Amino acid sequence: MLFQLTEEQLMIQQAARDFAQNECLPGVIERDEQQKFPREQIMKLAELGFMGMMVDPEYGGAGMDTVSYVLAMEEISKIDASVSVCMSVNNSLVCYGLQQYCTEEQKRKYLTPLAQGRKDGELYIGAFMLSEPEAGSDATSQRTTAEDKGDYYLLNGTKNWITNGGTASVYLVIAQTDASKGSRGINVFIVEKNWPGVTVAAKRKQTRYSR
Ligand SMILES: Cc1cc2nc3c(=O)[nH]c(=O)nc-3n(C[C@H](O)[C@H](O)[C@H](O)COP(=O)(O)OP(=O)(O)OC[C@H]3O[C@@H](n4cnc5c(N)ncnc54)[C@H](O)[C@@H]3O)c2cc1C
Repeated sequence: MLFQLTEEQLMIQQAARDFAQNECLPGVIERDEQQKFPREQIMKLAELGFMGMMVDPEYGGAGMDTVSYVLAMEEISKIDASVSVCMSVNNSLVCYGLQQYCTEEQKRKYLTPLAQGRKDGELYIGAFMLSEPEAGSDATSQRTTAEDKGDYYLLNGTKNWITNGGTASVYLVIAQTDASKGSRGINVFIVEKNWPGVTVAAKRKQTRYSR
């Protein structure tokens, strides 16, 4: 087997390397110190097609392969881990799930603008909400519930450590629909930021540890 990058993969790697140097490096320390969301960088990544790299072009994606995605992630992570984690969540946790498991209607409505990283000229990205104050590694101990109310579900719970949490327009929320089924009673709900009852709490102040 030949482990060699294709010409296209090499081009994507170089584009990501250039992007990291030119767009991420300037101000990376200041953004980190100020805990500032890298909005400008994410908007530009969207223009490059890097927010929905593996999504089918039919749904607004770039239709690239997984290796290309990993190469781009590697290059951007070398310079700015904050930009790369925002990018990775939109690509993998959000767009991948929508592409694999959603209905055609949901794909048109949510996946297409998320893969493009914009809607009506504004930044449009997603977040994946699993972790809770009492549920991290053991994700099945999450307590958010989704109650079937007939023509809608009522969700109750709190999520934290959510990448893109304050900026995303769409959330994939993990919730328990049937506690008696344990981990098999857990489902995912698409929630829009502007829906009634959704509250984004203040960002927790970053703690710095020194040796
Ligand atoms: C940069 C970043 C981005 C994140 N983004 C998201 C996001 O977008 N969405 C989201 O839902 N979550 C997100 N998270 C949260 C992340 O998924 C959790 O931090 C992770 O699941 C670990 O949970 P925890 O922090 O509560 O640690 P804990 O689960 O409390 O673990 C603490 C320590 O105990 C160890 N440990 C835990 N269980 C066991 C065991 N059974 N045996 C041995 N050791 C064990 C762990 O390895 C770890 O060292 C993010 C976290 C980070 C750091």
